[in-house]
Amino acid sequence: MKHTLRTFFAFLLALCLCLSFAACGGSGSGSESGSDTTPSGHTHTFAAEWSHDEEKHWHAATCGHVSERGSEAAHTYQNGKCTTCNYEHTEHSFGAYSKTATEHSRTCSVCGKTVSAAHTYENGKCKICDYAHQNHAYGADNICEVCGAKKALYTMSEDGTKIYFGEYPQSEAKESDLKATLNMEAGANPTSENAGKWTDYGYYISGSVESYMWFIDVEYQGDRYRGIYFTKYRPWNTTEQSAAEKSYQDENGYNLDTVYWFKYEPIEWHILEQSNNSVLLLSNIILDSRQYCNPNKATAGDPNNYLYSEIREWLNATFYETAFDRSARSIIETTTIDNSASTTASESNEYVCENTNDKIFLLSYKEVKSAYGFIESDDSAREMKSTDYAKSQGIYVSTDSGYVGNSMWWLRSPGTFSNETASYVSGDGYVMTGNNVSNTRGGIVPALWIKL
Ligand SMILES: [Zn+2]
Ligand SMILES: [Zn+2]
Ligand SMILES: [Zn+2]
Ligand SMILES: [Zn+2]
Ligand SMILES: [Zn+2]
Repeated sequence: MKHTLRTFFAFLLALCLCLSFAACGGSGSGSESGSDTTPSGHTHTFAAEWSHDEEKHWHAATCGHVSERGSEAAHTYQNGKCTTCNYEHTEHSFGAYSKTATEHSRTCSVCGKTVSAAHTYENGKCKICDYAHQNHAYGADNICEVCGAKKALYTMSEDGTKIYFGEYPQSEAKESDLKATLNMEAGANPTSENAGKWTDYGYYISGSVESYMWFIDVEYQGDRYRGIYFTKYRPWNTTEQSAAEKSYQDENGYNLDTVYWFKYEPIEWHILEQSNNSVLLLSNIILDSRQYCNPNKATAGDPNNYLYSEIREWLNATFYETAFDRSARSIIETTTIDNSASTTASESNEYVCENTNDKIFLLSYKEVKSAYGFIESDDSAREMKSTDYAKSQGIYVSTDSGYVGNSMWWLRSPGTFSNETASYVSGDGYVMTGNNVSNTRGGIVPALWIKL
């Protein structure tokens, strides 16, 4: 019995020794990174690798004291990762997007990570960050190949009565630095022997085309300008020329041997009529000044035959190509123009032509009297002013009291009493049957139908 008891105590002692040895941690266990000696003499030991949660990192105890954590601290982030434990932040707190031309990016306010991606466009805007694409690359269908935006070929005024569509030289550019730059671009002034980079207007003197007035189009800082230059005054009609018969260029402030510049500006159109998704537009201002037809030029029919007139040819070639780029042209409709006698001042007008199919046209005598909201008694609705550019071409500008600044504008309808007259609206808004077709002082107020 005694022997048994002693054996039992010896066993207990051995067990205690063994336990206390284990609690101290076996030395040479290799995975320890650190130790912490407690007041009781026990030294905690910790794993070399880091443990972590969302906020902190620490070394876990390897001595069995699981509540002990070595070197516990909050993560210190740089670009999304803790610089101490390599923990990657996941629940990012992103701020607003920064945007460049190609991508959007945003940064986590906690971990500093920046996430970038290329814009993903839909109808012109990035679906993610709302960035509006710039510098569109329009395809033949007028849709940007990058962002899918449809090219805005026109803009409408807020009240829905006006449309801005196409561009034509209008206001004179008077700023001297700008003019000096444009003059440099244009190079030497043209002469009848050498036009240089300039284009001859092909204007008449004494019934034939002569070289004395030229233009040049120059692009500068995203805007387009037209320079003009002339060495003789344009006659007020296409059949004569003398000092007494010059047009109104000098009265309008435009003189010989001087370059003048005019800015291409959006043309403002009045909506005359809407039909389904198309609108009939009439320019709100006189854009140019020229003859209906030089009588000598009329190769077929009478000089006031609209079908063969210079004015119709000019509207559908020169004006059409100058005012509208390829995309704008794509929404201009071809309109069948009623040229019957009933659209003129007389049902028995013998100078009428067959109907024409045109992109650009002039209104008829009847239309400006009683269609599209025009009524015979309201002359003021037909009064028109002209652009600086039209003035540089020699248009006559009224100085009559009550009509100061107004000019006459051509209609397509032939006159009734002579094959050399055509209808027009006077500076005071009257609808008249006959102005001489050779008159270059007449204003151009184009009309056209476009698809919206
Ligand atoms: Zn411990
Ligand atoms: Zn960390
Ligand atoms: Zn983060
Ligand atoms: Zn974006
Ligand atoms: Zn685009």
